Amino acid sequence: MNLLILGPQGSGKGTQARILADKLGLFYLEMGDFLRDLAKTNPEVDEIVNKKGELLPNDMFFFAMKKLLEEKIAEGKGLLLEGFPRSIEQYQMLKNWFNQEDLKIDKAIFIEISKEETIKRLSARRTCEACGRVYNLITDPPKGDACECGGRLSQREDDTPARIEKRLEVYNQNTKPLIEVFEKEGILLKVDGERPIQVIADDLLNQLTGTK
Ligand SMILES: [Zn+2]
Repeated sequence: MNLLILGPQGSGKGTQARILADKLGLFYLEMGDFLRDLAKTNPEVDEIVNKKGELLPNDMFFFAMKKLLEEKIAEGKGLLLEGFPRSIEQYQMLKNWFNQEDLKIDKAIFIEISKEETIKRLSARRTCEACGRVYNLITDPPKGDACECGGRLSQREDDTPARIEKRLEVYNQNTKPLIEVFEKEGILLKVDGERPIQVIADDLLNQLTGTK
């Protein structure tokens, strides 16, 4: 089974992705982590992403990503991709490659949460200034008012309601065309992300293994 997973910041998509990958035996690739790793071994990528702070051209990472995924496919693994594709163009690249390999995308999971919930969840994030650990005052609170390492907790400048709302608008604008394509192709699996983690996970597993 090959899956895509997407959702706004704070939707819990990473948590769900790890549960699904574990339960379904899929290889989970999170694009942000993948690009950070790639930058460590590839000076050209490092230059663009870290030194210039620019977006990496599609063809530059797609080749490296394909190589890694091909290894996993050869091992008989299904794939679970998070943070990719982010545009119709990237989706087309993925589909062209899948067609060549005679693979298909079974479902594109979209974890939906409201604007209010996104703002509520992200406003509650606190980061340790010493070790970088991220807490959430609602879902993952620290014991007391400091990090377990003793470090001071602070809110990222990025996490004020106005900034969160702005990021969410950009996300929605970019994602909407993709969601429409997934829906048209009959692979969209939209779930309510405002339920408890385990309830969402069970719902997804039911729907995925039921439709396999
Ligand atoms: Zn800490």
